[in-house]
Amino acid sequence: MIPNVLITGSNRGLGLEWCRQYAKAGWRVFASCRFPEQADALQQLAAEYGTVVMHRLDVTEPDQINALAGALAEYPIDLLINNAGVYYEKYDRPGQPIDYAAWTHTFRVNTMGAMRVSQALLPHIRRSQKRLIAVITSHMGSIAEIERPGSYYYRSSKAALNAAMKGFSLELGALEIGVLLLHPGWVRTRMGGPDGLLSPQESIEGMRARVEAFTLADSGRFFRYDGTEIPW
Ligand code: NDP
Repeated sequence: MIPNVLITGSNRGLGLEWCRQYAKAGWRVFASCRFPEQADALQQLAAEYGTVVMHRLDVTEPDQINALAGALAEYPIDLLINNAGVYYEKYDRPGQPIDYAAWTHTFRVNTMGAMRVSQALLPHIRRSQKRLIAVITSHMGSIAEIERPGSYYYRSSKAALNAAMKGFSLELGALEIGVLLLHPGWVRTRMGGPDGLLSPQESIEGMRARVEAFTLADSGRFFRYDGTEIPW
């Protein structure tokens, strides 16, 4: 039986590269995104690999999450990758008025979205071989690494994600389900911008190696793509 991976935010950036690499490695890829009908690059990948299946998923929409869990009822999910994220960088700056609606939305996607999807897919993950939830967080969620003002919505959403997922890893330990927190590095995507230090390919290769090497002793720990550990 080939392993199954479910990825959120698969239409571009790191999500698309996760899909590409796992498809190439022979996995069945459930590639979810908000608007499959507009996801040209993902459609091309699905045309190339019969093992890439597209699904609609906005991680802030409980009905869509439940519908996806139902549609995948017969499949074990070896690996769930909570990748979808938002960063309102232009508005999230020191000295600017706080946009509380944008801050709330950032939490709904980055923090609660990852938890909602993980909870809904637990039965599928539980009956798989690998039983792993990967959480794409950021070193910007590390309070220890804050050295300048700004990015309040993004940093707090990722710090909260880290706290929630660390606790969740303790809950899931009894079920032998792992939770791995990963920082992708600074990557050239729409979010990372053109000056990022890594290509999506390099970042995902690094994070895939962390997923490959994962044992339950790593559950609830926070690693960079290169395997170094990040302080909370
Ligand atoms: P991009 O901005 O390129 O892609 C973000 C993805 O998230 C898109 O597919 C987007 O879909 C999706 N998304 C946004 N909102 C939702 C939602 N409500 N439901 C489902 N999907 C949604 O970012 P990256 O690929 O760079 O980032 C991927 C992850 O890596 C994020 O969690 C980010 O925080 C993290 N990260 C990235 C870094 C970098 O340097 N690039 C550094 C540290 C962390 P749509 O096109 O429909 O908006």
